[in-house]
Amino acid sequence: MVESEVTSKRGLGLSALAPRVVQSEIRAMTMESDLIGGVNLAQGVCDTEVPAVVAEAAKTAIDEGHNIYTRMDGITRLRRAIAEKTERMQSIVVDPEREVVVTSGATGAFHAVALALFDPGDEVLLFEPFYGYHVGTLRTLHVVPVAVELDATANWALDLERVRAAITPKTRAIVVNTPSNPAGKVFTRAELEGLAEIAKEHDLFILTDEIYEHFIYGEMKHISPAAIDGMRERTIIMSGYSKTFSVTGWRIGYVIADAKWIPAIAYFSDLLYVCAPSPFQHGVAAGIEKLGKTFYAGLAMEHEVKREMLVGALRDAGFDPYVPDGAYYILASMKHLGDVLEGKGAAERARSLLRKTGVAAVAGSAFFRAGKGEDLLRFCFAKKDEDLEEACRRLRGLK
Ligand code: PLP
Repeated sequence: MVESEVTSKRGLGLSALAPRVVQSEIRAMTMESDLIGGVNLAQGVCDTEVPAVVAEAAKTAIDEGHNIYTRMDGITRLRRAIAEKTERMQSIVVDPEREVVVTSGATGAFHAVALALFDPGDEVLLFEPFYGYHVGTLRTLHVVPVAVELDATANWALDLERVRAAITPKTRAIVVNTPSNPAGKVFTRAELEGLAEIAKEHDLFILTDEIYEHFIYGEMKHISPAAIDGMRERTIIMSGYSKTFSVTGWRIGYVIADAKWIPAIAYFSDLLYVCAPSPFQHGVAAGIEKLGKTFYAGLAMEHEVKREMLVGALRDAGFDPYVPDGAYYILASMKHLGDVLEGKGAAERARSLLRKTGVAAVAGSAFFRAGKGEDLLRFCFAKKDEDLEEACRRLRGLK
């Protein structure tokens, strides 16, 4: 299991909690790609434009002197905007004074929530393929991440029996990431209802990372576990604007939770980050207030076109891509590529792809327990059209 890798690293004289394949792999591929002037589809950094209303409001906020600490749970205007949009879009009623904490990104949200809710030795279930930061954060707190495999042959379907089998007396929570990184899985209402049953039966929290909530394709619909009957109290929503407004460097995220959990979450968010950057809170608040349905529909449509573009190129190059329902990554299988790419594992083959095409991807193994994901690569399609077109052209040259 995930935990045994940690245990086996103890005694090296380095913190056993620090090194982790996930980030090192993404960063390594980014550096190698930069060295050769490659097209970087490894990193999930959106290259798309920041909406003008968002950028202008942040600049104005600096000029107007909003440059000092804010309340630890964020400025009132932003908490209100978050509460209002959550009710409007997901029919979840939120009290902006008692149920919202603005955090340092969704990453800071997850860290503060985990510190507030878990003790060392607690077990937390998460779905594999997983987002590395979730695993890394839990491990850092000596909380045990327990991976539950999704079914790759059935569009990453959730097997509730596997969830039940993974629960022990130490289990405290289940982490949901919908839409997910890296699989692009969008949890269905039926799946969330099944998880809700289990959570109630075993008295578990659901932590839900919804950072890609607006990146949804086809007929799929984003549903938060908090919207499932009877789940509001035990569900902690974590999301943010890094991806939606293309401001990954601004560090604006948030937590929505029942008022009884908020003081502890806000306490740890304050302890770690004090507050989210003040002018950027104003910028994001303006964006939520002023950008309407057309913006969000446009965002999804724009990325759906990019998804189609990359899926087509990957197929032409001989990969078998799993077509994502949401987020902006594609996991692609190399099983029919033959020996076009050199090397044994996914990390070696990612480097071979970079050498041959100048396109950087991430080894699938970064999102699985050791020994798995070795026939997968992850490609990010949140790129400017010209860069994505260039990447597609290069990928097609692989054969
Ligand atoms: N959660 C998931 C699932 C992600 O994929 C990412 C970024 O890649 C984040 C959180 C990071 O969000 P933030 O920039 O708000 O910390």
